[in-house]
Amino acid sequence: MTAVNLLDFDLAGLTAYCEQLGEKRFRATQLFRWIHQRGASDFSQMSDLAKSLRERLAGVAEIRVPAVLSEQASADGTVKWLFDVGSGDAVETVFIPEDDRGTLCVSSQAGCAVGCRFCSTGHQGFSRNLTTAEIVGQLWFAEHHLRARLHLPEGTRAITNVVMMGMGEPLQNYAALLPALRVMLDDHGYGLSRRRVTVSTSGVVPMMDRLRADCPVALAVSLHAPEDTLRDDLVPLNRKYPLAELLAACSRYLESAPRDFVTFEYCMLDGVNDLPEHAAQLVDLVQGVGSEPLSCKFNLIPFNPFPASGLLRSPRERVTQFARVLQDAGIVTTIRKTRGDDIDAACGQLAGEVQDRTRLQQRLAGRVHIPIKAEGSQMSTLSLTTVHEGQA
Ligand code: SAH
Ligand code: SF4
Repeated sequence: MTAVNLLDFDLAGLTAYCEQLGEKRFRATQLFRWIHQRGASDFSQMSDLAKSLRERLAGVAEIRVPAVLSEQASADGTVKWLFDVGSGDAVETVFIPEDDRGTLCVSSQAGCAVGCRFCSTGHQGFSRNLTTAEIVGQLWFAEHHLRARLHLPEGTRAITNVVMMGMGEPLQNYAALLPALRVMLDDHGYGLSRRRVTVSTSGVVPMMDRLRADCPVALAVSLHAPEDTLRDDLVPLNRKYPLAELLAACSRYLESAPRDFVTFEYCMLDGVNDLPEHAAQLVDLVQGVGSEPLSCKFNLIPFNPFPASGLLRSPRERVTQFARVLQDAGIVTTIRKTRGDDIDAACGQLAGEVQDRTRLQQRLAGRVHIPIKAEGSQMSTLSLTTVHEGQA
Protein backbone atom coordinates (compact mmCIF):
# COMPACT_ATOMS: atom_id res chain seq x y z
CA MET A 1 0.00 0.00 0.00
CA THR A 2 1.41 3.41 -0.89
CA ALA A 3 1.58 5.91 1.95
CA VAL A 4 -0.77 8.91 1.85
CA ASN A 5 1.24 12.13 1.55
CA LEU A 6 -0.27 14.54 4.08
CA LEU A 7 1.10 17.53 2.13
CA ASP A 8 -1.68 16.80 -0.37
CA PHE A 9 -4.36 17.98 2.08
CA ASP A 10 -5.71 21.33 3.11
CA LEU A 11 -7.10 21.40 6.64
CA ALA A 12 -10.56 20.22 5.55
CA GLY A 13 -8.97 17.32 3.66
CA LEU A 14 -6.76 16.37 6.57
CA THR A 15 -9.74 16.50 8.90
CA ALA A 16 -11.67 14.12 6.65
CA TYR A 17 -8.64 11.84 6.53
CA CYS A 18 -8.30 11.80 10.33
CA GLU A 19 -12.01 11.05 10.66
CA GLN A 20 -11.53 8.09 8.33
CA LEU A 21 -8.89 6.85 10.73
CA GLY A 22 -11.42 7.22 13.55
CA GLU A 23 -9.66 10.23 15.06
CA LYS A 24 -11.26 13.38 16.49
CA ARG A 25 -11.30 16.46 14.25
CA PHE A 26 -9.01 18.52 16.48
CA ARG A 27 -6.26 15.97 15.94
CA ALA A 28 -6.13 17.11 12.33
CA THR A 29 -5.47 20.69 13.43
CA GLN A 30 -2.64 19.53 15.69
CA LEU A 31 -1.15 17.48 12.91
CA PHE A 32 -1.51 20.31 10.39
CA ARG A 33 0.27 22.71 12.72
CA TRP A 34 3.11 20.28 13.28
CA ILE A 35 3.56 19.87 9.57
CA HIS A 36 3.26 23.44 8.32
CA GLN A 37 4.09 25.65 11.27
CA ARG A 38 6.85 23.58 12.80
CA GLY A 39 8.13 21.81 9.73
CA ALA A 40 7.87 18.30 11.15
CA SER A 41 8.36 15.50 8.66
CA ASP A 42 8.55 12.67 11.16
CA PHE A 43 5.54 11.60 13.20
CA SER A 44 7.71 10.70 16.18
CA GLN A 45 8.46 14.44 16.65
CA MET A 46 4.79 15.20 17.32
CA SER A 47 4.97 14.97 21.07
CA ASP A 48 1.40 16.01 21.89
CA LEU A 49 -0.16 13.28 19.74
CA ALA A 50 -0.82 9.91 21.38
CA LYS A 51 1.95 7.42 20.74
CA SER A 52 -0.57 5.00 19.27
CA LEU A 53 -1.69 7.59 16.71
CA ARG A 54 1.89 8.48 15.81
CA GLU A 55 2.67 4.83 15.22
CA ARG A 56 -0.46 4.34 13.20
CA LEU A 57 0.27 7.36 11.00
CA ALA A 58 3.83 6.18 10.46
CA GLY A 59 2.37 2.99 8.98
CA VAL A 60 -0.05 4.59 6.53
CA ALA A 61 1.02 8.19 5.89
CA GLU A 62 4.05 10.32 5.15
CA ILE A 63 5.14 13.95 4.83
CA ARG A 64 7.18 13.97 1.67
CA VAL A 65 8.52 16.89 -0.34
CA PRO A 66 10.23 16.49 -3.71
CA ALA A 67 13.98 15.87 -3.43
CA VAL A 68 16.20 18.90 -3.89
CA LEU A 69 18.57 18.45 -6.80
CA SER A 70 20.38 21.73 -6.37
CA GLU A 71 20.47 25.02 -4.57
CA GLN A 72 22.01 28.15 -6.03
CA ALA A 73 22.44 31.44 -4.21
CA SER A 74 22.77 34.71 -6.10
CA ALA A 75 25.01 37.58 -5.04
CA ASP A 76 21.82 39.61 -4.39
CA GLY A 77 20.45 37.08 -1.86
CA THR A 78 18.06 35.33 -4.27
CA VAL A 79 18.07 31.55 -3.84
CA LYS A 80 16.91 29.05 -6.45
CA TRP A 81 16.13 25.40 -5.82
CA LEU A 82 15.66 22.69 -8.40
CA PHE A 83 13.27 19.96 -7.21
CA ASP A 84 13.09 16.48 -8.66
CA VAL A 85 9.45 15.59 -9.26
CA GLY A 86 10.16 12.18 -10.76
CA SER A 87 10.23 10.62 -14.23
CA GLY A 88 13.01 12.97 -15.25
CA ASP A 89 11.03 16.13 -14.51
CA ALA A 90 12.33 18.92 -12.33
CA VAL A 91 10.81 22.26 -11.33
CA GLU A 92 12.26 25.43 -9.91
CA THR A 93 11.42 27.59 -6.92
CA VAL A 94 12.95 30.99 -6.24
CA PHE A 95 13.24 32.91 -2.96
CA ILE A 96 13.58 36.69 -3.32
CA PRO A 97 14.47 38.54 -0.11
CA GLU A 98 13.72 42.24 0.18
CA ASP A 99 13.96 44.65 3.11
CA ASP A 100 10.38 44.26 4.25
CA ARG A 101 9.40 40.89 2.83
CA GLY A 102 10.50 37.48 1.61
CA THR A 103 8.79 36.33 -1.57
CA LEU A 104 8.69 32.76 -2.81
CA CYS A 105 8.06 32.17 -6.51
CA VAL A 106 6.41 28.76 -6.81
CA SER A 107 5.93 26.43 -9.81
CA SER A 108 2.59 24.79 -10.60
CA GLN A 109 3.46 22.48 -13.52
CA ALA A 110 6.45 20.70 -15.04
CA GLY A 111 6.61 22.65 -18.29
CA CYS A 112 3.63 24.58 -19.60
CA ALA A 113 1.10 23.96 -22.36
CA VAL A 114 0.37 27.62 -23.16
CA GLY A 115 3.57 28.07 -25.16
CA CYS A 116 4.15 31.82 -24.95
CA ARG A 117 6.80 32.93 -27.42
CA PHE A 118 8.95 34.80 -24.91
CA CYS A 119 8.96 32.16 -22.16
CA SER A 120 11.56 29.41 -21.86
CA THR A 121 9.16 27.21 -19.85
CA GLY A 122 6.67 27.58 -22.69
CA HIS A 123 9.30 26.54 -25.20
CA GLN A 124 9.87 23.28 -23.29
CA GLY A 125 6.32 22.11 -23.76
CA PHE A 126 4.16 20.47 -21.12
CA SER A 127 5.11 17.44 -19.07
CA ARG A 128 2.57 17.20 -16.26
CA ASN A 129 0.62 18.95 -13.53
CA LEU A 130 2.20 19.09 -10.09
CA THR A 131 0.25 17.58 -7.21
CA THR A 132 -0.85 19.71 -4.25
CA ALA A 133 1.95 18.09 -2.23
CA GLU A 134 4.50 19.13 -4.83
CA ILE A 135 3.22 22.72 -4.84
CA VAL A 136 2.96 22.98 -1.05
CA GLY A 137 6.23 21.04 -0.68
CA GLN A 138 8.13 23.91 -2.35
CA LEU A 139 6.85 26.30 0.33
CA TRP A 140 7.28 23.79 3.17
CA PHE A 141 10.88 23.17 2.20
CA ALA A 142 11.84 26.79 1.55
CA GLU A 143 10.20 28.12 4.73
CA HIS A 144 11.73 25.60 7.11
CA HIS A 145 15.07 25.42 5.38
CA LEU A 146 15.45 29.22 5.41
CA ARG A 147 14.28 29.53 9.01
CA ALA A 148 17.01 27.13 10.08
CA ARG A 149 19.65 28.64 7.85
CA LEU A 150 18.92 32.24 8.76
CA HIS A 151 18.58 31.28 12.47
CA LEU A 152 15.18 32.95 12.65
CA PRO A 153 13.63 33.03 16.12
CA GLU A 154 10.63 30.74 16.82
CA GLY A 155 7.46 32.20 15.35
CA THR A 156 9.27 34.30 12.71
CA ARG A 157 8.49 33.70 9.07
CA ALA A 158 11.05 33.59 6.30
CA ILE A 159 8.40 33.76 3.59
CA THR A 160 5.80 36.52 3.80
CA ASN A 161 4.55 36.43 0.20
CA VAL A 162 3.94 33.71 -2.36
CA VAL A 163 3.65 34.34 -6.09
CA MET A 164 2.53 31.54 -8.41
CA MET A 165 4.92 32.79 -11.08
CA GLY A 166 7.32 29.90 -11.43
CA MET A 167 6.99 27.26 -14.10
CA GLY A 168 3.55 26.48 -15.43
CA GLU A 169 0.10 28.01 -15.77
CA PRO A 170 -1.50 27.68 -12.31
CA LEU A 171 -5.06 28.01 -13.61
CA GLN A 172 -4.53 24.99 -15.87
CA ASN A 173 -3.86 22.96 -12.72
CA TYR A 174 -6.75 24.25 -10.65
CA ALA A 175 -7.63 21.04 -8.81
CA ALA A 176 -4.18 20.88 -7.21
CA LEU A 177 -3.77 24.65 -6.88
CA LEU A 178 -6.87 25.33 -4.79
CA PRO A 179 -5.98 23.15 -1.76
CA ALA A 180 -2.41 24.47 -1.97
CA LEU A 181 -3.67 28.07 -1.75
CA ARG A 182 -5.84 27.11 1.21
CA VAL A 183 -2.83 25.70 3.05
CA MET A 184 -0.95 28.96 2.40
CA LEU A 185 -3.81 31.08 3.78
CA ASP A 186 -4.81 28.86 6.71
CA ASP A 187 -4.00 30.34 10.13
CA HIS A 188 -2.96 26.86 11.21
CA GLY A 189 -0.79 26.60 8.09
CA TYR A 190 1.33 29.47 6.77
CA GLY A 191 -1.18 32.17 7.76
CA LEU A 192 -0.50 34.36 4.73
CA SER A 193 -3.06 37.05 4.03
CA ARG A 194 -5.09 36.85 0.85
CA ARG A 195 -3.29 39.87 -0.56
CA ARG A 196 0.13 38.32 -0.05
CA VAL A 197 -0.60 35.30 -2.20
CA THR A 198 -0.69 36.05 -5.93
CA VAL A 199 -1.89 33.81 -8.72
CA SER A 200 -0.44 34.85 -12.06
CA THR A 201 -2.29 33.72 -15.17
CA SER A 202 -1.97 34.11 -18.89
CA GLY A 203 -5.77 34.38 -18.92
CA VAL A 204 -7.70 31.16 -18.36
CA VAL A 205 -11.01 32.99 -18.14
CA PRO A 206 -13.34 30.27 -16.70
CA MET A 207 -10.83 29.44 -14.00
CA MET A 208 -10.45 33.11 -13.05
CA ASP A 209 -14.16 32.99 -12.23
CA ARG A 210 -13.69 29.81 -10.20
CA LEU A 211 -10.81 31.34 -8.26
CA ARG A 212 -12.83 34.44 -7.50
CA ALA A 213 -15.59 32.30 -6.00
CA ASP A 214 -13.36 29.80 -4.19
CA CYS A 215 -10.35 31.73 -2.96
CA PRO A 216 -9.98 35.32 -4.17
CA VAL A 217 -6.26 35.84 -3.68
CA ALA A 218 -4.37 38.63 -5.45
CA LEU A 219 -4.57 38.33 -9.22
CA ALA A 220 -1.84 39.05 -11.74
CA VAL A 221 -2.63 38.80 -15.43
CA SER A 222 0.09 38.41 -18.02
CA LEU A 223 -1.06 40.82 -20.71
CA HIS A 224 1.96 41.50 -22.96
CA ALA A 225 -0.04 43.07 -25.80
CA PRO A 226 -2.72 45.75 -26.14
CA GLU A 227 -4.63 44.17 -29.03
CA ASP A 228 -5.70 40.68 -30.10
CA THR A 229 -3.58 40.16 -33.22
CA LEU A 230 -0.33 40.73 -31.36
CA ARG A 231 -1.50 38.87 -28.25
CA ASP A 232 -2.63 35.87 -30.36
CA ASP A 233 0.96 35.62 -31.51
CA LEU A 234 2.70 36.13 -28.15
CA VAL A 235 0.25 34.30 -25.86
CA PRO A 236 -1.52 31.62 -27.93
CA LEU A 237 -4.23 31.20 -25.25
CA ASN A 238 -5.56 34.56 -26.44
CA ARG A 239 -7.12 32.81 -29.44
CA LYS A 240 -9.38 31.00 -27.00
CA TYR A 241 -9.94 33.85 -24.53
CA PRO A 242 -9.45 37.16 -26.36
CA LEU A 243 -8.80 40.47 -24.63
CA ALA A 244 -12.41 41.60 -24.31
CA GLU A 245 -13.28 38.39 -22.45
CA LEU A 246 -10.14 38.57 -20.38
CA LEU A 247 -10.78 42.13 -19.25
CA ALA A 248 -14.40 41.33 -18.46
CA ALA A 249 -13.17 38.46 -16.26
CA CYS A 250 -10.80 40.88 -14.51
CA SER A 251 -13.70 43.23 -13.76
CA ARG A 252 -15.78 40.34 -12.40
CA TYR A 253 -12.83 39.28 -10.26
CA LEU A 254 -12.76 42.69 -8.63
CA GLU A 255 -16.51 42.77 -7.98
CA SER A 256 -16.11 40.56 -4.94
CA ALA A 257 -13.17 42.59 -3.62
CA PRO A 258 -13.84 46.22 -4.53
CA ARG A 259 -10.72 47.60 -2.85
CA ASP A 260 -8.40 45.26 -4.76
CA PHE A 261 -6.70 45.75 -8.11
CA VAL A 262 -5.41 43.53 -10.88
CA THR A 263 -1.70 43.64 -11.66
CA PHE A 264 -1.01 43.45 -15.38
CA GLU A 265 2.37 42.00 -16.21
CA TYR A 266 3.85 43.17 -19.46
CA CYS A 267 7.07 41.72 -20.77
CA MET A 268 8.93 44.38 -22.77
CA LEU A 269 10.05 43.00 -26.14
CA ASP A 270 12.23 45.15 -28.35
CA GLY A 271 10.29 46.51 -31.32
CA VAL A 272 7.40 44.07 -30.75
CA ASN A 273 5.14 45.47 -28.02
CA ASP A 274 7.14 48.34 -26.50
CA LEU A 275 6.30 51.40 -28.61
CA PRO A 276 4.52 54.51 -27.25
CA GLU A 277 1.46 53.68 -29.38
CA HIS A 278 1.19 50.30 -27.64
CA ALA A 279 1.18 52.10 -24.30
CA ALA A 280 -1.54 54.46 -25.55
CA GLN A 281 -3.63 51.46 -26.69
CA LEU A 282 -3.21 49.91 -23.24
CA VAL A 283 -4.54 53.04 -21.59
CA ASP A 284 -7.68 52.85 -23.77
CA LEU A 285 -8.01 49.14 -23.08
CA VAL A 286 -8.01 49.36 -19.29
CA GLN A 287 -9.79 52.67 -18.96
CA GLY A 288 -12.70 51.28 -20.93
CA VAL A 289 -14.60 53.45 -23.38
CA GLY A 290 -18.03 54.14 -21.97
CA SER A 291 -17.54 51.72 -19.08
CA GLU A 292 -15.92 51.85 -15.65
CA PRO A 293 -12.10 51.99 -15.70
CA LEU A 294 -10.51 48.81 -14.40
CA SER A 295 -8.69 49.14 -11.11
CA CYS A 296 -5.24 47.99 -12.11
CA LYS A 297 -1.50 48.45 -11.90
CA PHE A 298 1.13 47.69 -14.50
CA ASN A 299 4.33 45.84 -13.87
CA LEU A 300 6.70 46.16 -16.82
CA ILE A 301 9.09 43.20 -16.94
CA PRO A 302 12.41 43.54 -18.75
CA PHE A 303 12.50 40.53 -21.08
CA ASN A 304 15.03 37.90 -20.07
CA PRO A 305 16.30 36.67 -23.39
CA PHE A 306 17.07 33.07 -24.33
CA PRO A 307 18.37 32.11 -27.75
CA ALA A 308 15.45 30.02 -29.03
CA SER A 309 13.01 32.94 -28.60
CA GLY A 310 14.54 35.12 -31.31
CA LEU A 311 13.43 38.14 -29.23
CA LEU A 312 15.41 40.93 -27.57
CA ARG A 313 15.07 43.00 -24.42
CA SER A 314 13.74 46.54 -24.91
CA PRO A 315 16.27 49.30 -24.31
CA ARG A 316 15.92 50.89 -20.87
CA GLU A 317 14.96 54.26 -22.31
CA ARG A 318 12.03 52.74 -24.21
CA VAL A 319 10.78 51.05 -21.04
CA THR A 320 10.83 54.28 -19.05
CA GLN A 321 9.11 56.12 -21.89
CA PHE A 322 6.42 53.40 -22.00
CA ALA A 323 5.97 53.64 -18.24
CA ARG A 324 5.58 57.38 -18.50
CA VAL A 325 2.65 57.10 -20.94
CA LEU A 326 0.82 54.83 -18.51
CA GLN A 327 1.70 56.96 -15.49
CA ASP A 328 0.58 60.15 -17.22
CA ALA A 329 -2.80 58.50 -17.67
CA GLY A 330 -2.93 57.94 -13.91
CA ILE A 331 -2.08 54.24 -13.95
CA VAL A 332 0.34 53.06 -11.26
CA THR A 333 3.24 51.50 -13.18
CA THR A 334 6.41 49.88 -11.91
CA ILE A 335 9.38 48.46 -13.74
CA ARG A 336 10.37 45.12 -12.28
CA LYS A 337 13.85 44.86 -10.90
CA THR A 338 15.55 41.79 -12.25
CA ARG A 339 16.74 39.55 -9.44
CA GLY A 340 18.95 36.49 -9.45
CA ASP A 341 20.24 37.23 -12.94
CA ASP A 342 23.53 35.50 -12.24
CA ILE A 343 21.80 32.20 -11.43
CA ASP A 344 19.16 32.30 -14.19
CA ALA A 345 16.43 32.76 -11.60
CA ALA A 346 14.73 35.71 -13.26
CA CYS A 347 11.26 35.57 -14.81
CA GLY A 348 10.99 33.27 -17.76
CA GLN A 349 14.42 31.78 -17.22
CA LEU A 350 13.11 28.88 -15.21
CA ALA A 351 14.19 25.95 -17.27
CA GLY A 352 14.16 23.02 -14.83
CA GLU A 353 12.40 20.05 -16.43
CA VAL A 354 13.70 17.00 -18.12
CA GLN A 355 16.80 15.83 -16.35
CA ASP A 356 19.37 13.44 -17.66
CA ARG A 357 19.38 11.25 -14.59
CA THR A 358 22.23 9.05 -15.70
CA ARG A 359 24.55 11.97 -15.06
CA LEU A 360 23.53 12.45 -11.46
CA GLN A 361 26.70 10.93 -10.05
CA GLN A 362 28.76 13.12 -12.28
CA ARG A 363 26.92 16.16 -11.04
CA LEU A 364 27.36 15.17 -7.44
CA ALA A 365 31.07 14.98 -8.05
CA GLY A 366 31.34 18.70 -8.62
CA ARG A 367 30.21 21.64 -10.61
CA VAL A 368 29.41 20.70 -14.17
CA HIS A 369 27.11 21.98 -16.84
CA ILE A 370 24.16 19.65 -17.22
CA PRO A 371 22.60 19.40 -20.62
CA ILE A 372 18.87 19.72 -20.20
CA LYS A 373 16.81 18.12 -22.89
CA ALA A 374 13.71 20.07 -23.64
CA GLU A 375 10.61 18.36 -24.97
CA GLY A 376 10.73 20.33 -28.14
CA SER A 377 14.26 18.96 -28.61
CA GLN A 378 15.86 22.34 -27.94
CA MET A 379 18.89 22.05 -25.66
CA SER A 380 19.90 24.44 -22.94
CA THR A 381 22.35 24.22 -20.10
CA LEU A 382 22.00 24.84 -16.43
CA SER A 383 24.92 25.46 -14.19
CA LEU A 384 24.69 23.90 -10.75
CA THR A 385 26.86 24.90 -7.86
CA THR A 386 25.71 22.80 -4.92
CA VAL A 387 23.69 19.63 -4.85
CA HIS A 388 21.67 18.31 -1.92
CA GLU A 389 20.21 15.04 -2.99
CA GLY A 390 17.11 13.67 -1.31
CA GLN A 391 16.78 16.20 1.50
CA ALA A 392 13.72 16.41 3.71
N1 SAH B 1 1.89 31.05 -16.39
C1 SAH B 1 1.71 32.16 -15.56
C2 SAH B 1 2.68 32.26 -14.43
C3 SAH B 1 4.11 31.90 -14.72
S1 SAH B 1 5.00 32.98 -15.79
C4 SAH B 1 1.69 33.43 -16.37
O1 SAH B 1 2.03 33.40 -17.55
O2 SAH B 1 1.30 34.45 -15.82
C5 SAH B 1 5.32 34.35 -14.70
C6 SAH B 1 5.62 35.67 -15.41
O3 SAH B 1 6.89 35.62 -16.06
C7 SAH B 1 4.59 35.99 -16.47
O4 SAH B 1 4.15 37.31 -16.37
C8 SAH B 1 5.37 35.80 -17.73
O5 SAH B 1 4.84 36.53 -18.75
C9 SAH B 1 6.76 36.23 -17.33
N2 SAH B 1 7.78 35.76 -18.25
C10 SAH B 1 7.81 34.61 -18.93
N3 SAH B 1 8.92 34.53 -19.69
C11 SAH B 1 9.61 35.66 -19.48
C12 SAH B 1 10.86 36.16 -19.97
N4 SAH B 1 11.61 35.45 -20.81
N5 SAH B 1 11.29 37.36 -19.53
C13 SAH B 1 10.54 38.04 -18.66
N6 SAH B 1 9.36 37.63 -18.15
C14 SAH B 1 8.90 36.46 -18.56
FE1 SF4 C 1 3.20 29.21 -19.54
FE2 SF4 C 1 3.25 31.55 -18.22
FE3 SF4 C 1 5.36 30.74 -19.68
FE4 SF4 C 1 3.13 31.50 -20.91
S1 SF4 C 1 4.47 32.81 -19.62
S2 SF4 C 1 4.33 29.68 -21.39
S3 SF4 C 1 1.58 30.75 -19.51
S4 SF4 C 1 4.56 29.77 -17.86
